[in-house]
Amino acid sequence: MRKFLNLLPIGKQGLGLQEFVKRGSVTADFLGGKAGVVNCGVSMSKPFDFEIGKLTGPGSASFRPPLGLAPAPERRTFFLETFGCQMNDHDSEKVAGVLLARGYRQVDRPEAAGLILYNTCSIREKAAQKVFSRLGEYRTKQSEGKIIGVLGCLAQQEGEDIFERAPWVSLVCGSASYRRLPQLIAELESGNHRVTGLDLDTDETFETEITRRDNPFRAYLTIIEGCDKACSYCVVPYTRGPERSRASDSILREVRQLADLGYSEVQLLGQTVNSYADPTPRRMRFAELLLAVAEVPGIRRVRFTTSHPSDFTPDIVEAMEAQPKVCEHVHLPVQSGSTKVLRAMQRTYTRSEYLEKIGMIRSATRAIAITTDIIVGFPGESEADFEETLRLLDEVRYDSLFSFKYSPRPNTPSLKLPDVIPEEEKSRRLAVLQDKQREIQSARNGQLTGETFEVLVSGKSRRENQWSGYTSSNRLANFTSQAKELLGTYVQVRVTGATPNSLVGEHVV
Ligand code: SF4
Repeated sequence: MRKFLNLLPIGKQGLGLQEFVKRGSVTADFLGGKAGVVNCGVSMSKPFDFEIGKLTGPGSASFRPPLGLAPAPERRTFFLETFGCQMNDHDSEKVAGVLLARGYRQVDRPEAAGLILYNTCSIREKAAQKVFSRLGEYRTKQSEGKIIGVLGCLAQQEGEDIFERAPWVSLVCGSASYRRLPQLIAELESGNHRVTGLDLDTDETFETEITRRDNPFRAYLTIIEGCDKACSYCVVPYTRGPERSRASDSILREVRQLADLGYSEVQLLGQTVNSYADPTPRRMRFAELLLAVAEVPGIRRVRFTTSHPSDFTPDIVEAMEAQPKVCEHVHLPVQSGSTKVLRAMQRTYTRSEYLEKIGMIRSATRAIAITTDIIVGFPGESEADFEETLRLLDEVRYDSLFSFKYSPRPNTPSLKLPDVIPEEEKSRRLAVLQDKQREIQSARNGQLTGETFEVLVSGKSRRENQWSGYTSSNRLANFTSQAKELLGTYVQVRVTGATPNSLVGEHVV
């Protein structure tokens, strides 16, 4: 799958998005891809200054990579695969930026790379298993002169144990230590065989000189890292460290640079994005930041995710009402419809407090779409608790939801909770929940037939005259148009039909 690469050299101006589109650098099928081919003619803002041979330093007797054996095509190349959430995706963009600045080139196959990196997720057991199975595939790669690195949540959680389980790994770095990545990579380059970045006690955010952007239409910006909440099932506080917010002036500077590059849509990211606490004397509140980002010339859409219900304050809805550029979509994870289960999850709100927040959002004059996350089968979740969750779905009528079976994670308090729900029962509840939600989404999307929405076009189908893009409410719209080129533009689309997961429509000229 081909991907688009955009570089954001701080203080320099790169090629604008429209210029890329004109040059045909944008491919329609970029969305949903992970590691892909970098297809970019942008020159580096720094000269190549690194030789892959330096990566193959001394190291331990048993696992020393053979010096100078990396085949010529693999020099200064890296392969980066990302697991997990949007924050991980964006971290990978920044990791790629760090490597590109050091003169590496990204390749789409691990076979073609000198440096193989996995940016991992440990939020669910399945994701962690997948990473270890992937690592297993590279058991022999080190002897081919390749360097294998593990980044992200699993790296933080497992730490140096990864070297025990996969001794062919050379780099283990948790996301809270990404600030140290350039230094760790320099250590590898200078011959260190095993390097780690596992500190959690950082008050810094991960900002890089260059961020590689994978998505040509939506630029992601992390504004707050880590989490100070303590949900009993969650590894994030242990793997990403305490909450730390990025300075508002630094965020706004990057947004201005993104606008200069041609981006008109930005998405502010954080595990609890609305807990943002500006560390500068300006003390900008999250709602003020949304407005300030929207006011940057060239910015037409501002998104944010993920919001924590407890920190979702009326001024956020007021900002959405006052500024149409702030997109009409809120992702507000509830996790369960039962207050008893919410307590066991240590979610800091009750069902009725959550519903008050929903009422606040629904009282806006704009039709703000609401999406959520739900975990089924949490220890102690009775059939009655589960039914409360189903009733919550009826009450809120979410526009979309991500649903998961509870999976116990190492070191989390919920591991010790009694009344574990059998796997088959979790699967049954998940299926019931998803069936119900599918009906709700079908009905909600169906009600939009006949309405017209602005869509930012981000995809072109192989089928003639078929395009796709997202509405302000983050609904995927597939539509027909006779236009020759629409990628990266905003168009009006009239809805002519719907599926549970998308709208179908036609371009209104
Ligand atoms: S709010 Fe809870 S679920 Fe979300 S990242 Fe923090 S601890 Fe995890």
